[in-house]
Amino acid sequence: MLQTRLIPAAANAHQAPLLIKRLLLSGIRYEKSREIVYRDQMRYGYATLNERIARLANVLTEAGVKAGDTVAVMDWDSHRYLECMFAIPMIGAVLHTINIRLSADQILYTMNHAEDKFVLVNSEFVPLYKGIESQLTTVQKTILLTDAVEKSADMGGLVGEYENLLAAASPRYDFQDFDENSIATTFYTTGTTGNPKGVYFSHRQLVLHTLAEASVLGSLDSIRLLGTNDVYMPITPMFHVHAWGIPYVATMLGVKQVYPGRYEPDMLCQLIKQEKVTFSHCVPTILQMVMNAPIAQDHDFGGLKMIIGGSALNRSLYDAAKARGIQLTAAYGMSETCPLISCAHINDELMAGSEDERTTYRIKAGVPVPLVEAAIMSADGTLLPADGESQGELVLRAPWLTQGYFREPEKGAELWEHGWLHTGDVATIDDFGFIDIRDRIKDVIKTGGEWISSLALEDLISRHPAVREVAVVGVVDPQWGERPFALLVLREGQSLDAKGLKEHLKPFVDQGSINKWAIPSQIALVTEVPKTSVGKLDKKRIRLDIVQWQAAGSPFLSTV
Ligand code: AMP
Repeated sequence: MLQTRLIPAAANAHQAPLLIKRLLLSGIRYEKSREIVYRDQMRYGYATLNERIARLANVLTEAGVKAGDTVAVMDWDSHRYLECMFAIPMIGAVLHTINIRLSADQILYTMNHAEDKFVLVNSEFVPLYKGIESQLTTVQKTILLTDAVEKSADMGGLVGEYENLLAAASPRYDFQDFDENSIATTFYTTGTTGNPKGVYFSHRQLVLHTLAEASVLGSLDSIRLLGTNDVYMPITPMFHVHAWGIPYVATMLGVKQVYPGRYEPDMLCQLIKQEKVTFSHCVPTILQMVMNAPIAQDHDFGGLKMIIGGSALNRSLYDAAKARGIQLTAAYGMSETCPLISCAHINDELMAGSEDERTTYRIKAGVPVPLVEAAIMSADGTLLPADGESQGELVLRAPWLTQGYFREPEKGAELWEHGWLHTGDVATIDDFGFIDIRDRIKDVIKTGGEWISSLALEDLISRHPAVREVAVVGVVDPQWGERPFALLVLREGQSLDAKGLKEHLKPFVDQGSINKWAIPSQIALVTEVPKTSVGKLDKKRIRLDIVQWQAAGSPFLSTV
């Protein structure tokens, strides 16, 4: 470190640490009466939001929550979750957002590992909670979250029901200042091997992330995703990386926010229409689910802007959404990165190009956002040129990256090898600064001497008119090491076999987009592609299924 002159401060100067409570100051000043809406159940203005956060802080403090304690939440996306995202860190406690889609065993593991002391449980998850309650080693008290008339549940240490407790609490709370490097949130990766790993973020990190995200969403003219007149609704679980941090941005700006609870296509479409939602975000598979829902067939999505991240956005989904009036923008991030790293920005040079070229860029992982450094690293730790050609692991530096894995120092040191955060993704960075994610390192298909990107193949296969959904994985092959294998869900009334797919891919081989080894010699036609707890293609499960089908000579298989 350089020896520099540190800023002199008067003994009584206020340092204004970067705390989450400061994000709450402005929304209410801008728009006191704008609403927070929860399904068709509840709506209230920003002044009430502020009061409810203070009431929750009083409830938690009276229940015994102290600074440094971990308070966990098991809920769908709700106004209550939003209140927890503020009140829990604002009293100096740590918010653990539980991934309620993990198995009961994994949830139990994460709760004991995070040392949860207090838990807020939605009534729908009470049976799940009861199933693991006797094995929880640190939980002392519980609070029930419910929309039902019945305001009680048989859970140990029950303090009461959330709405009743809030109604009885004072609407004022004197939130103290403390060190901005205090942990504000923690949650667990959806990692497919071994136990989930705990990542954690400080107040300072979340405040900086919020400011950078607001500047990207609101200031880049090529996208302009979220301004104060927009209406925001997440379709990403709030337990997964702070719903991409956008509830903090929306609250800071005083934007109208709509929370849909459990994701049901009918409710989502109804809310988009009735509340006039203009901005949302989700992973590709969830967007597909919403657009394919029967209720959505004659629904007008015109004017809806969405960020798609968490998995590659392919061109067919981009085009299908556009045809329905939805403007998609790709972004990239991961659990370890808070999450925002990059977002597509179409600069003057790209604007002057063709629509087709612009689309190619809009679906890439995007340009690193302010304060983020991204680079490509070879296996030996050398940084490679950003020339659009050199492939290697994408590595990152930014003020909001997890500083390790909770209570797993060795895995944290591996994550941060050479002083850069390792993403586990193979990528290139081009002249425009665009990151192009080629694949996850462990999903790249190594066949003969060639490396084939499963994402590139999925993109090309998805352009076949009969294909509704596709996942490509590498399967072990005695001769070639691995061979690509495609799992397909076809559109209703359509047919396709391995030979037809080969014919579809042949022109891409001829024009050099892929090599001939990329054509799968075997495919499976299925009714559903397995997904992870956050709706991404579950490639580990797919590989296991294929091995079983191949052993059993399953009728889903088609071979050329
Ligand atoms: P998670 O930690 O579960 O959120 O997963 C993060 C991973 O999702 C990244 O390491 C990427 O492999 C993948 N991912 C996220 N955004 C994108 C994107 N825009 N394009 C391709 N892959 C993505």
